[in-house]
Amino acid sequence: MKTESMPLITGALRLPSMNFRVASTMDEALTVLAKDPDARPIAGGTNLVPRLMSRHFNVKTLVDLSDLNECRYVRRDKDSIKIGALTTLAELVESPYMQHFDAIKSFEREFVSPPIMNLATVGGSIALGDYAQDIVVILESLGAKLKVSKNNEYEIVLLDSRIRSPIKTSGLIIEVDFPFPRDNNLLCFFDKLNPSVSRIPYASLALKTELERDVFTDVTLVANCAKGTTPDRLFETENVLTNSKFEKGVIANAVAKLEEEAEPHSDFLAPGWYRKRALGALLRKVSSRAVEKVISGV
Ligand SMILES: Cc1cc2nc3c(=O)[nH]c(=O)nc-3n(C[C@H](O)[C@H](O)[C@H](O)COP(=O)(O)OP(=O)(O)OC[C@H]3O[C@@H](n4cnc5c(N)ncnc54)[C@H](O)[C@@H]3O)c2cc1C
Repeated sequence: MKTESMPLITGALRLPSMNFRVASTMDEALTVLAKDPDARPIAGGTNLVPRLMSRHFNVKTLVDLSDLNECRYVRRDKDSIKIGALTTLAELVESPYMQHFDAIKSFEREFVSPPIMNLATVGGSIALGDYAQDIVVILESLGAKLKVSKNNEYEIVLLDSRIRSPIKTSGLIIEVDFPFPRDNNLLCFFDKLNPSVSRIPYASLALKTELERDVFTDVTLVANCAKGTTPDRLFETENVLTNSKFEKGVIANAVAKLEEEAEPHSDFLAPGWYRKRALGALLRKVSSRAVEKVISGV
């Protein structure tokens, strides 16, 4: 493992002084992080570096994961898709396994700053786990699980429960996987409404469903701000859509249910009622896309 000393000079701003360890294997990274409770991993750095520069918090040691090519992959394994935590968002959207998902195409199209996709990683986005991380909303709708390492032991946790955990920073994320049925009948759609001046969306939403004949089964609906500021499922709205043909009347009922069920937060960007309306409009859009996809037989 290479050790370098800071400070780094970056433009007019200066990073605080700290140790910088470049891990060349995941085992090395885990050893340093296990020994030093004050050490923090850094992946793409797109979130962490600006926060360190603005003295949002202090870190004594940064463990750089960006050389860990062993954790950069997207592969199919029997009935699941596995994604290494160091996979960049650009690598993810380019993977042949992800071309099946309409949601990934929308994610790429709607990403606010395309060059950032070359740096930002899947693991870093999940570790942040907040309502601004579009990929988290999509992966949560797909029922993703995480392989996490802590104190040299591995555990599998649901992405959903990690996001709701009070200690979100706990453990190093190694891999993400989600079920992918062999008959390829899984559909997933995503959309968001973004203020032009900010990368933080007013609202974003992902809909996953399976299709049996012309009926949508196993519907999962996740909104980035379903409950306050946390990405969460909208179970009651899912129930309206499950085992239905997505027709105009069903979609209208689902939108009405969503407006009852969702409790988005208010902030300087938008009031909660506006976000709720935005989520309703997004649900209408993604449901219509699901119907179009079925009609066109793609
Ligand atoms: C201008 C701009 C526009 C953006 N637009 C969008 C957008 O439209 N949509 C979108 O979804 N995202 C967007 N992002 C990216 C997003 O907000 C995060 O910055 C990014 O996903 C973080 O990934 P990273 O690899 O850079 O994480 P880092 O900044 O390296 O780390 C973030 C946090 O995760 C921790 N961490 C990193 N890797 C791991 C791991 N494997 N296990 C445990 N903890 C870990 C770090 O310690 C840190 O606390 C944008 C970012 C910028 C700067």
